[in-house]
Amino acid sequence: MPRESFTCPRCGAAEADPVLAPQRFCGICQDFTGRCGASFIAAALLATGVVEIPGWPYPCTSTGTERWLLARVAGAETGIGLCAPHGDRLRAGAASWMKALGLTLNPAGRS
Ligand SMILES: [Zn+2]
Ligand SMILES: [Zn+2]
Repeated sequence: MPRESFTCPRCGAAEADPVLAPQRFCGICQDFTGRCGASFIAAALLATGVVEIPGWPYPCTSTGTERWLLARVAGAETGIGLCAPHGDRLRAGAASWMKALGLTLNPAGRS
């Protein structure tokens, strides 16, 4: 059986622990950073006072295959992984209304 590993989108470290890696859990961040970060974004939105996030299903337990950068008005950028459906939602316009709330989401690797 091939050993699973993933690169944590938040801290950039490669997680290859035989127990943690298959769960997409980063031992450094102590979080499931290898999974879709839909809940992470939802938590950031809820922190802005939003009570409902239409069109944004969460939690999502899919593997995060796309890398995005989440930036808040006051704060550093956080790398997150998103599944393809959630990435599509951002591209389809979700990113613009989130930006109106102070969250900026950009695909990683582009500025
Ligand atoms: Zn990490
Ligand atoms: Zn997702």
